[in-house]
Amino acid sequence: MSMNNISIIGAGTMGNGIAHVFAQAGFKVILVDINPLQLQSALDTINKNLDRQVTKGIITEEQKKLTLANIAVSSIIAEGVKNAQLIVEAATENIELKLSIFEQIDTYAPTGCILATNTSSISITKIAAVTKRADMVIGMHFMNPVPVMKLVEVINGYSTKKEVTEIIIELSKQLGKIPCAVNDYPGFIANRILMPMINEAIYSLYESVAGVEEIDTVMKLGMAHPMGPLQLADFIGLDVCLSILKVLQDGFGNPKYAPCPLLVNMVLAGKLGVKSGEGFYKYTAASKETTVSERFR
Ligand code: NAD
Repeated sequence: MSMNNISIIGAGTMGNGIAHVFAQAGFKVILVDINPLQLQSALDTINKNLDRQVTKGIITEEQKKLTLANIAVSSIIAEGVKNAQLIVEAATENIELKLSIFEQIDTYAPTGCILATNTSSISITKIAAVTKRADMVIGMHFMNPVPVMKLVEVINGYSTKKEVTEIIIELSKQLGKIPCAVNDYPGFIANRILMPMINEAIYSLYESVAGVEEIDTVMKLGMAHPMGPLQLADFIGLDVCLSILKVLQDGFGNPKYAPCPLLVNMVLAGKLGVKSGEGFYKYTAASKETTVSERFR
């Protein structure tokens, strides 16, 4: 199957990165978002990230121009997907929203178009069930920041056809990524392993086993993790971590995934990590230095 036209639904953090890597690999991309301001901001981000690649000598100025020329934008789903051979949905992580988007793209996309989702935690099988082409629905889980991170977790729903998995694996390689195929169970692989580790780090803080910096330092220096689990949680967003832990807890019916009460409280208090300016650490736009939040000093 020849792939040329890719539609990306959602132009936020992940959508702009996914558009960037497809366009850079020579695909024609339409980036769709209901919010026109978000589309402009996505184009600005892609431009800035391409500039960084030019400065580092990863791509030439000419390749930057070609990449930008491959990206068009639209705020109307029906328009944005009508010629697509692959749609990658990267809209807000909300089950009702994703089900409604999949009903729409199933209606407007051509027959034979593969429908992929970048969801971190929602069941691929559940999303596929609202379409009339469950065998063409698959998870294509990119990591943040997309232009930098090599992994694509390729998630087979219960009904996903083998040929569709093979196409997505091949396509991920064409983007310069390393695909890993997994099956559709709560948290897939990445978050099933990562989130309990983050939760355990938060429990260690909650039970005063050690402070924020000590916990992160043990994991950085002892396990060679590039970032400690508490700082990583701040980067992912504590609300996102909480919602993924709830998916694991509900999906497996196992209390071992129950979110730490401290995590629940921090989300209730609006301390969501980098995006709110404070989580386990404090973040200021002016400085790249991070300091431990006063609450944990
Ligand atoms: P985000 O909030 O940055 O962006 C979501 C975008 O979706 C917004 O621009 C919003 O306007 C748009 N949107 C909402 N409803 C829409 C609709 N009906 N049609 C079109 N666009 C719509 O979110 P994000 O962090 O980019 O996450 C997107 C997806 O990627 C989620 O499923 C998330 O779980 C997953 N994901 C996120 C990360 C991460 O680190 N942020 C990593 C891997 C996977």
